[in-house]
Amino acid sequence: MKLVETKCANCGSSIHVYEDYLRDEMYCTLNCMKSDSEMVMVKESSGFASVNLA
Ligand SMILES: [Zn+2]
Repeated sequence: MKLVETKCANCGSSIHVYEDYLRDEMYCTLNCMKSDSEMVMVKESSGFASVNLA
């Protein structure tokens, strides 16, 4: 697999991820992911809703 460089969607730090795992929004740490989590939950709410209600 190939490593590519991208930027944290929250703080802008450069991070390296495998190309296969690259997404539109990547985060350098869990804290950065959590601080931006409201946006993520809106985008993915339809996917998680059925799981949470099960
Ligand atoms: Zn970050």
